[in-house]
Amino acid sequence: MTAASAASTAAGPRLTMELENRRTASPVVRSFRAVPATVRVNRELTARAGTPGGRSVRHLEIALPAGVTYQVGDHLGVLPRNHVALLNRVTARFGLDAGQYVTLHARGGAPTHLPTGEPYPLLAVLAGCVELQDVATRPQLAAMAEHLPEGPARDELRDLAATTEDSRARYRERIAAPRRTFLELLEAHPDCTLPFVAFLDLLPALRPRYYSISSAPSVSEEPSVTVGVLDEPARSGQGRYLGVCSRHLAETRRAARSSSWSDDPRSPSTRRRTRTSP
Ligand SMILES: Cc1cc2nc3c(=O)[nH]c(=O)nc-3n(C[C@H](O)[C@H](O)[C@H](O)COP(=O)(O)OP(=O)(O)OC[C@H]3O[C@@H](n4cnc5c(N)ncnc54)[C@H](O)[C@@H]3O)c2cc1C
Repeated sequence: MTAASAASTAAGPRLTMELENRRTASPVVRSFRAVPATVRVNRELTARAGTPGGRSVRHLEIALPAGVTYQVGDHLGVLPRNHVALLNRVTARFGLDAGQYVTLHARGGAPTHLPTGEPYPLLAVLAGCVELQDVATRPQLAAMAEHLPEGPARDELRDLAATTEDSRARYRERIAAPRRTFLELLEAHPDCTLPFVAFLDLLPALRPRYYSISSAPSVSEEPSVTVGVLDEPARSGQGRYLGVCSRHLAETRRAARSSSWSDDPRSPSTRRRTRTSP
């Protein structure tokens, strides 16, 4: 035992710790009035999960926070997080450091789904505020074209962003059908100088996903849901397509076994939604 550790043992632990879930400060979480909930049970329902072509289906039981109840037929709203692999792709594309904080300012104080006015972890913005896997929109393509040098790539993106009947058909065939994303296109065009802040501004707000509650409050206070995990060969032909929320929920299983799970920052945020608003 070293002198330092001997002193620390005599005086008790050298460190104490408090955990804070800063995610509650996110405008997306606030706008949906989402509250953190705890995944108590998360188990696989299908024997073929993990085998080629075998789809994973998970059974989850959720402990709702105090004061939140549900009724038969309600849906559970979940605000997911983008996977770290996607975040790494964004930081690599824009040459950013994953440890950076970003301070965003909205012109004229306009409301935005992005946190503004104070430093916010870059990764938290990317993980919890924006959709990164949506199909690239025409305004995104037009913005890219503006930041490309003159040449065939710029002409093609301008054409795909146009609203003539022929351009719309080409957009459907080359962008919408294969579900090519803004990020994929930026990766495919490393010479595009679109600034990161413009990229952020053009991304849609992260949307909650809904899951039908399969339990009844008369039997269990903790609602259960069944989640089909979206993990398939991508329509673009490149790699696999992993659903943002179903994968996020599927991956809570390791933490669910931890006794400290209720404090795990990966807890999904929930919001009750009645059956009348599917
Ligand atoms: C009222 C309601 C109740 C619901 N209840 C349930 C439920 O009980 N259980 C359940 O599992 N789901 C349920 N859903 C669906 C659920 O909300 C999510 O839509 C689903 O889990 C997928 O979300 P995700 O974030 O994983 O996928 P996302 O990341 O949102 O991806 C979905 C998108 O990916 C596209 N896509 C699909 N396959 C591919 C591919 N191979 N390549 C490229 N793109 C692809 C789809 O067209 C779709 O646009 C419900 C939906 C509603 C509206």
